Amino acid sequence: MGTAYEERRGTLYNYRITFYGNALAWLIHVVFLITFWQLGVTVLAWSNLLSILYYTLSFYFVHKRYYRAFFVGLFIEVVYNAIISTVVLGWGANVHYFIIMVAYGVFFMPNVRRSIRVASTILAMTIYGFLYMNVTTGTQPLTPSFEQILGLFCLLSTIALIAGLSFVFEGSVVEVTSELERTNERLHTLASRDGLTGLYNRTTGYRLVEDEIREAVINGRPYAVALGDIDHFKAFNEQHGHDCGDLVLKQVASALARTDGIAVRWGGEEFLIFLADQSTAEATETIDRLRQRIKSLETIYDGRRLSVTMTFGVTTRTGFEAVDTLVKEADDRLRAGKQEGKDRIVTSIHQ
Ligand code: GH3
Ligand code: MG
Ligand code: MG
Repeated sequence: MGTAYEERRGTLYNYRITFYGNALAWLIHVVFLITFWQLGVTVLAWSNLLSILYYTLSFYFVHKRYYRAFFVGLFIEVVYNAIISTVVLGWGANVHYFIIMVAYGVFFMPNVRRSIRVASTILAMTIYGFLYMNVTTGTQPLTPSFEQILGLFCLLSTIALIAGLSFVFEGSVVEVTSELERTNERLHTLASRDGLTGLYNRTTGYRLVEDEIREAVINGRPYAVALGDIDHFKAFNEQHGHDCGDLVLKQVASALARTDGIAVRWGGEEFLIFLADQSTAEATETIDRLRQRIKSLETIYDGRRLSVTMTFGVTTRTGFEAVDTLVKEADDRLRAGKQEGKDRIVTSIHQ
């Protein structure tokens, strides 16, 4: 088990790269075998034949998903072949570049401890450095034109392989990052919304209302806070059942969410509405329309048409006020509305 990125990188490495990498290596060594055989460089023809045999066996590792065996074998084969080819053909043939390629590939090897990856990269680079210091002309050099062709092939294929591997690594980073972003979004929604109604929960609602108040004060605009509570909901639950009560809560919530403001599930069957840019008269009208809409809603449950009413307490301001004070004021008015007979809105206790 590693990080999500390491796991994804491992998956990409395993399934895509091992098969195509093995097939490519197999093919390259067939071409090398034929070429060196024709050129009479028999020692390299033999070593390439060995490589072909190895990569044939390695298809079995890929098939069986023995990735560790695959990578260890690949590392040994590439380094061994690069050493012998560089010694025989000379530095100019550029076969040594494959050591760089394999060192890069091994460094990102999945499911292997970082220390082992670093150690094998250092080993490959040490061998590379040793060859650099000690080999110039080979024991059986190629003609200049052949050396140029092979040199260019080794250089370009190393660049192409490193670019290809980088592309795959980047792909896994992008994939994991976007997955994390999606998870983050889901978590954010889960943390900020109420599970039953989908409205903002109290914590998030509180923070949003604070922000809105600040904004309203900066712009010198009025605002309103209303607290609404479903009437006789305890009795409703007792009569029709808790599931039916939940359904009603959801319908009430979706009506509240359609208001042009912030709707928050403040408590069980208690909701807070924040209205920006509304004077007392405007807020009263908006909330009363909402009250009527909720009253006219019909919930069909078990073949029955059911509806509930709500009582609201409303408070408005033009300057700054603490959320707690506004909620307390709205709540006092809401309680007054309950005492006065429910299904109404109260904007002032002394009216
Ligand atoms: P009032 O008109 O004075 O508001 O009376 P009430 O019965 O609505 O008030 P009370 O506070 O006594 O009861 C609130 C009820 O709301 C109690 C509880 O059964 C119900 N309630 C709270 N949260 C939920 C919920 O998530 N689902 C359901 N179905 N009922 C809930
Ligand atoms: Mg109630
Ligand atoms: Mg209540």
